Amino acid sequence: MIAQPESSFLEGTLIEIIRKVERGKIRHAVFDFDGTVSLIRDGWQNVMVPMMVDVLLEETRTNETREDLERTVVEFVDGLTGKQTIYQMIQLCEEIKKRGGAPKDPLHYKDLYNSLLLPIVDKRIARLKSGEIRAGDLRVPMSLEFLQKLRKRGVNLYLASGTDIEFVRHEAALLDVAPYFEGGIFGALRAYKDFSKAMVIQKILKDFDLSGSELLIVGDGYVEIENAKAVGAIALGVASVENNRYNMNVDKRNRLIHAGADILIPDFQEGDRLLAYLFNE
Ligand SMILES: [Mg+2]
Repeated sequence: MIAQPESSFLEGTLIEIIRKVERGKIRHAVFDFDGTVSLIRDGWQNVMVPMMVDVLLEETRTNETREDLERTVVEFVDGLTGKQTIYQMIQLCEEIKKRGGAPKDPLHYKDLYNSLLLPIVDKRIARLKSGEIRAGDLRVPMSLEFLQKLRKRGVNLYLASGTDIEFVRHEAALLDVAPYFEGGIFGALRAYKDFSKAMVIQKILKDFDLSGSELLIVGDGYVEIENAKAVGAIALGVASVENNRYNMNVDKRNRLIHAGADILIPDFQEGDRLLAYLFNE
């Protein structure tokens, strides 16, 4: 854990500078998707948590109550957020084992989760297609504009998500952000060891022979922020608001600071000020 230095706000903004970074050198930027750009899967916890509680009740002979199990599930799901979904399912398998059950393959539970979440996502997509809501309603505020302005400054953009790659590609296209990620769109694979956000970051650093301050990493999860700090990149934390009934991620800001975020924003509404700061203009 990185000690929390004294932070300050860029004057008159909600842009919080946790520590000074080398400015004016950014050439590449990696974005997380869910919670950073997209709100299509907002509330996914409301699907994953009860599903896992049900599995634990059905597949083990535990004496714990639904409430007990819910507490356990909320804790580990929260702690693993930002990694690929499969890691939450691997932990579910561990919890089944701990309670004397014989878990199925983690992929089985991931498929079950996807089958429960998909109708919710599809409903939002249907409302988008019918014109009832606009793409902007399902994006983190001003995220599209922020991407456009980075592209205008010649920054290469990449998308790296712990959600399955097929979904990420589809949803990024629906939200009109896909064309900006010319560097590539990356997401979870069934062969889950073949992908991680850290691997994407390593590849960019190597391909372009970058130094840390030439790379910006943007995300609302501790995983990508830790990945950024591990390679000396500039870590921009997005403490976006999430809706779920378990109060998960209410302390997003603190978590992002502890993970090592250099700069924190609630969303991209003050993107121009942030860009002027980052590019030393
Ligand atoms: Mg995220």
